[in-house]
Amino acid sequence: MARFEYAPAPESRAVVSLRSSYGLYVDGEFVEPLEGKSFKTINPASEEVLAEVALAGAGDVERAVAAARRAQREVWGPMPGAERAKYLFRVARIIQERARELAVLESLDNGKPIRESRDVDVPLAAAHFFYYAGWADKLDYAGFGPSPRPLGIAGQIIPWNFPLLMAAWKLAPALATGNTCILKPAETTPLSALVLAEIFQQAELPPGVINVLTGDGSTGAALVARRDLDKVAFTGSTEVGKAIQRELAGTRTRVSLELGGKAANIVFEDAPFSQAIEGIVNGIFFNQGHVCCAGSRLLVQESVAEAVLEALKRRLGTLRLGDPLDKNTDIGAINSERQLDKIVELAASGEREGAERWSPSCSIPERGYWFPPTIFTGVAPSQRIAREEIFGPVLSVLTFRTPDEAVQKANNTTYGLSAGVWTEKGSRILWMADRLRAGVVWANTFNRFDPTSPFGGYGESGFGREGGRHGLEEYLDA
Ligand code: NAP
Ligand code: MG
Repeated sequence: MARFEYAPAPESRAVVSLRSSYGLYVDGEFVEPLEGKSFKTINPASEEVLAEVALAGAGDVERAVAAARRAQREVWGPMPGAERAKYLFRVARIIQERARELAVLESLDNGKPIRESRDVDVPLAAAHFFYYAGWADKLDYAGFGPSPRPLGIAGQIIPWNFPLLMAAWKLAPALATGNTCILKPAETTPLSALVLAEIFQQAELPPGVINVLTGDGSTGAALVARRDLDKVAFTGSTEVGKAIQRELAGTRTRVSLELGGKAANIVFEDAPFSQAIEGIVNGIFFNQGHVCCAGSRLLVQESVAEAVLEALKRRLGTLRLGDPLDKNTDIGAINSERQLDKIVELAASGEREGAERWSPSCSIPERGYWFPPTIFTGVAPSQRIAREEIFGPVLSVLTFRTPDEAVQKANNTTYGLSAGVWTEKGSRILWMADRLRAGVVWANTFNRFDPTSPFGGYGESGFGREGGRHGLEEYLDA
């Protein structure tokens, strides 16, 4: 088959003006960290250093907490919802105005394809601010009692896989409900949160309403170790989530945790075939598989397994891996060397434990962190690649014969964040959705997000909901 070669189509970096160093954003201003420590953030596609970023310590946490507390009591909490809404609308509009800059910056710092940061991360981040802006003056009618009150101040710790979008998921509902925030972005992807801080300045958000503390795990730990936050919202690994829950047990701090997943994407023999193939690809190879709700376990009905695998392999052969800033790129860079090591190790365990490994031939750039799209077949439910979250572009394929067996295999996990069902039969979708232990069940689609729709987990995937009306409840003393 003749292959049509694409010419390079790189997005321009000129829209981004990186500073050589960044301070912390506290009480409406960029400030130097008290202990004077910093770290470098790199472009994982080239290993180029992008900027030097301040590392916040306990003293900086103290300052940010004081600023957030004062802003909450004196300004943001008492402000009428309709006024708060204006700020949220303004932030949403500025995100849209600066969309290209944010998309390029996100791809530089994270390694994700520009197609995804441009078409998913940035528009959805703006959509979250728009959506929650609409709630700010309607809280009395949201079903949480006649006049629900904000909790107070929220510490929000976010991961590196969707840096800007996770910031929006956390900040927008907290702000709409009258809370103030201290946001801690991940060490490998601090830059979009810092541009967001610039956007808050541009929107003239009152000082202290949002504070951004860049740093590493110790910064997050210092934030949690304080006993005077009213809320801690965390997205990241199950391990750190458990540590946070232990730390805050017995305190009055409200906690929500959005942790890992090992989602089943279930394909029945009557599924719309081509759509299902695209859904499988989107389910696990979107964002290099750095997605907590990724469809990392494909459960395919035995009667169509061979045909599905053949079509899947053909499709993977057309995916383009490389420069994240190229508009034709499908698979970008792995976010960090540490994450790459983890993926390599888990993939090796799959081979060792007897599964069969396959990747399309594709050339891997010399510098940076890369992993080819990979499929494992002949996977047994006991193998590590069927149980542990790989958080990379690796699909484990299992088969089933009956709907009961599909449910049993899908639920055979300690996680429960999401699941997908592909079938022509509406009644089967409902039957499956009733039985799958997962916070989100997609039908004939996958990885579809919307600010109006609640998202969250069961079991070791955590608790609490983000998005929709449910997302308000996490920040209200109702
Ligand atoms: P992680 O360590 O849980 O990181 C998540 C956030 O928590 C980051 O901001 C991190 O800061 C911070 N953090 C780290 N240690 C902390 C502590 N003791 N107390 C408070 N905050 C702390 O996750 P990771 O190491 O980046 O990734 C490990 C695995 O987690 C991945 O392989 C994946 O399986 C899973 N993960 C899940 C999601 C998700 O969306 N549910 C997202 C990312 C990762 P630093 O980044 O600065 O260390
Ligand atoms: Mg980086």
